Amino acid sequence: MAIDYSGGLIPFYVRREAGTARAGIALPPTMPETYTLSPAAHAAILHAARQAAPREACGLLFGNAAHIETAQPAANVHGEPHRHFEIDPAALIAAHKAARAARDSGGPQLVGYFHSHPNGLARPSATDAASASGDGRIWAIAASGAVTLWRDAPSGFEALSYQVKEG
Ligand SMILES: [Zn+2]
Repeated sequence: MAIDYSGGLIPFYVRREAGTARAGIALPPTMPETYTLSPAAHAAILHAARQAAPREACGLLFGNAAHIETAQPAANVHGEPHRHFEIDPAALIAAHKAARAARDSGGPQLVGYFHSHPNGLARPSATDAASASGDGRIWAIAASGAVTLWRDAPSGFEALSYQVKEG
C-alpha cells in the first residue's frame, strides 16, 4: 500500500484495521495494543452463535496474551439459555486442566470465554457485568453476525480492538 504524504496531508496518523487503512483520523501517537483472533476462531464463534440461535452459544477461548487461536464451543447449561449462558462446568474444568498441562510447554492457555447475544446486543449486558469477575480474561461476544472483544478488567469491561489474522 502506498501512502501519498504530499499535498499537505501530514501530519496525520494512519490506523490499520482489518486490513484497511483510514487516513486523516487523528489518534494518539501511542496506539493501544491490538489483539488478534485467528480466522478459525472467528469463524467458530460465529458458527456456534448461528447453531445455537435463538439460544445463547458459549465456549472457551485458547491462545496467549495477544492472540486467540482457538474457540471451543461448550454446552450452555443455564436454565434460561435464550437470555443467559453458563458454560458447562465439566468443560470448564477440562479446559483448566488442559491449559495447566500446556503451560510448561508454552502451549495454548485459557484466555477467555465467548458467548452470543441472539437479541443483537453488541456489548456486555447488565447480566454479563454482574457475572464478571474482573480477572482480566477476554470475553468475545457474537451479535448480529459480528464479534466484539472485551477485557474483564477490575474496573469493568473494556472494549478491545482486534484483527482477524493468523498468530
Ligand atoms: Zn451476554
